[in-house]
Amino acid sequence: MMPGSYITEEDRRAATTVTTSGSGHKFEIQLGHLCNNRCVFCSSGQLTAMKIARAVPLEPIVEALEAARAAGAWHLTFLGGEPTTHKRFLDALGKAVELGFQHIVIFTNGVMFPHPGFIDSVLALGRFEWRVSIQGATDEAHVATTGRPESFRRILHGLGELQRHGQLVTANMCVNERSYRSLPEYPALLRRYGVRQLHVDIVRPESTGERDQEYLREIMPRYSDMAPYYDEMLARFDEWNPDFDVNVGNLPYCILPKWGSRIHHGGQETVTKSADAVGLEDAMNKYEWHGSLRTYLPGCDECVFRPRCTGIFRVYLQLHGEDEFRPISREALVALDPERRNFVVLVEPRLGPLRAALGADESPPGWRTEREISEDRRRRVEIVFAHRDGARAHFVLLAPGRGRAPVITCDAYDVDVEVDPGVPTDAFAELLSWFHGRLAAGSDGTPAPALAPHAIEQAVHGPMLLRSRQRVTLLAKRVEAHFALPGWRVEPLRWPTEASAVLPVRGSAEACVEVRFTIGARGKRSTVGVEFRAADPTGDGGVKAVMEALVE
Ligand code: SF4
Repeated sequence: MMPGSYITEEDRRAATTVTTSGSGHKFEIQLGHLCNNRCVFCSSGQLTAMKIARAVPLEPIVEALEAARAAGAWHLTFLGGEPTTHKRFLDALGKAVELGFQHIVIFTNGVMFPHPGFIDSVLALGRFEWRVSIQGATDEAHVATTGRPESFRRILHGLGELQRHGQLVTANMCVNERSYRSLPEYPALLRRYGVRQLHVDIVRPESTGERDQEYLREIMPRYSDMAPYYDEMLARFDEWNPDFDVNVGNLPYCILPKWGSRIHHGGQETVTKSADAVGLEDAMNKYEWHGSLRTYLPGCDECVFRPRCTGIFRVYLQLHGEDEFRPISREALVALDPERRNFVVLVEPRLGPLRAALGADESPPGWRTEREISEDRRRRVEIVFAHRDGARAHFVLLAPGRGRAPVITCDAYDVDVEVDPGVPTDAFAELLSWFHGRLAAGSDGTPAPALAPHAIEQAVHGPMLLRSRQRVTLLAKRVEAHFALPGWRVEPLRWPTEASAVLPVRGSAEACVEVRFTIGARGKRSTVGVEFRAADPTGDGGVKAVMEALVE
């Protein structure tokens, strides 16, 4: 059968009614498919042009919101089409606020941004996350994707306004033939407007509407042609701010193995295993419908990414063939990724005996395993133990050299430990020794992990450093919320090391004031040191005013 995509009955239903989906505390509501843009990868514009999409009434929207809230949802996302052009959008938003949703996301293409009074009307209702579809990082790429000449300028106008109002802004894009060459420009664009997160996804053939093979081939370039542009974008984000939250959705890992920790499939980048859940498998089952449109190749079973990869779109394989997809062995990944970005994947073999013991419910007397959290993007695995008195000990495994004050080190990982106050020292010492023993059993011919000489004392200081870190983060948030000096902007807080942070405040012509924090512990108290570093090439005195405003 020739590859192509079709408007399904489900699409037709969604185009004329309210559709919802939810998981746990999260709830999404789609206000039909009506949209003013004609994005090349999306069915909404086509359904609108074909006059299949219709405006949906307010009543079912309100009913769905009430039902979701009654079921305990508190995180809400408004989707479309374009939700902000719905005639009763402000009523629906107001209702959501009234019902008590705590985090509300407005997913928008920005068409309403320049509309007089629109942003002010929304802000009058509360504080929201604005998730903006920036479909290219340049005017040319964005407009080529949306088919609307003014669309990029509208977005820039809106981003400027939202920044001026101190709003939380995140961004989304679906990379395609018309936009992929602009990927490396995203870091500078998002930095300029203080955007906090970027999700870059690939074209999903089944979401494009009614399209034939030639159309799909034209908008879906070969992944390996796009790879150098992804690579450059991710390198620039890393250079600017390694903690910036950029993630790549659904690209097969073997296309960009070095950046595997930035890729996630099926909407899940953090995996939590607790006593009553099975982690990744459960998370992926939610996306089974999606998985049925994808497939694996015979070599995939050999690939180190196989457990987290949902495969390749069947339609893509029909268009471009199989040549690009080569399974990645663990040894190859070690060579490709000297910076251990794929730490969570690479550390797995060393954790075998520890995981076996945890799976068998073994732990020293008085302790039980509470949960394990693997975070690809943050390159860490955390295992939490609870003492029978209720206090906890957190063991965090990080790539070598990334531990804050590691109590265990080896060539494959550092281990930081944080212990709640009140844990008996001898009980913690026993747990630490047990944990170290399980890790040593996984060293398998490599040098055994070493315990730091003052490991127990270090672990006890951990919580104080954490408190210092929280104080710095809070302080930075306050500065971001209240600092308002024309021509200057506050950039995101960075942590160059575990014990030091930098909050840059930037003006024009390279003028900059950096607030530098140093955290530590003295006795049983957490400490935070602060100093200012200023650069003022123009010498126009602006820097002094910034420092005065910051001190206030
Ligand atoms: S499992 Fe297959 S498709 Fe997925 S990353 Fe590995 S080789 Fe590529």
